[in-house]
Amino acid sequence: MGSAGAVDETEHPFTTSFSSKDVRVTNHYHEHDPLSAIFSAIHEGGHGIFDQNVNPDYDKTVAGSCGYMGIHESQSRFYENILGRNKNFWIPIYEKLGELLPQFQEISLDDFYREINHVRNSYIRTEADELTYCFHIILRYEMEQAIFRDQVPVEELPALWNQKMKDYLQIIPENDSQGILQDVHWSDASFGYFPSYLLGSIYDGMLLDTIQQELGSVDELLAAGRISEITKWLNEKIHWYGNTRKPKEVIEAVCGREVSAEPLIRYFKKKYGEIYGLTE
Ligand SMILES: [Zn+2]
Repeated sequence: MGSAGAVDETEHPFTTSFSSKDVRVTNHYHEHDPLSAIFSAIHEGGHGIFDQNVNPDYDKTVAGSCGYMGIHESQSRFYENILGRNKNFWIPIYEKLGELLPQFQEISLDDFYREINHVRNSYIRTEADELTYCFHIILRYEMEQAIFRDQVPVEELPALWNQKMKDYLQIIPENDSQGILQDVHWSDASFGYFPSYLLGSIYDGMLLDTIQQELGSVDELLAAGRISEITKWLNEKIHWYGNTRKPKEVIEAVCGREVSAEPLIRYFKKKYGEIYGLTE
């Protein structure tokens, strides 16, 4: 299992790797918003764990780092959301968090858990909760279809964006920096990237199901501080293979079934049904 790399600061957190032995993770620390850096660290850590655990025989080849970004994002988002926003993840380490950041000593674990899963409609994708985040991606994918398939003129795009925000999240941005201009992706021509995030979450629903079948309850593993067993499973089933399998092949080999959003939707209904006391 690899462990070599570096951690440093940047304006926007990202991960880059040069081989399984040189993986670099960055973060941005907002003095008044420690949660942002905590979840960025967990997210980028997921990317980093992936790249450190690819078969080292693939170093310096195209197989060495997974270029299928839906699969890569599935790993960062599995750590960030499925594990990091699970209350049991925090049970073994919440006291330590209070030692490092004393303001958390005043906040109960239950309140902390509710805050990190507080669902609210918001303008900015990177600040969205796990649930409404999906709508931010669907909206962007539809905008990409409007641009490339439907040839909607550029000057009509901001209004189309605002209409979609109203349709999906019942809010209308006051300006384009809260709206269509908020992300860096399109300005650097990364059209088609956004779906990777939601595909990653769809894969995560399937991976969660399979892990629970093979290793038992993720809640119990996390509460007992046995997260390394989950990491080892991901190392062996996914990371080791680097870029040598297509996403469809990864999911079918690991989960034994075709890609489906059903497990993710079931996970959302159970988790948020419990947090918000909802019944179907
Ligand atoms: Zn990512």
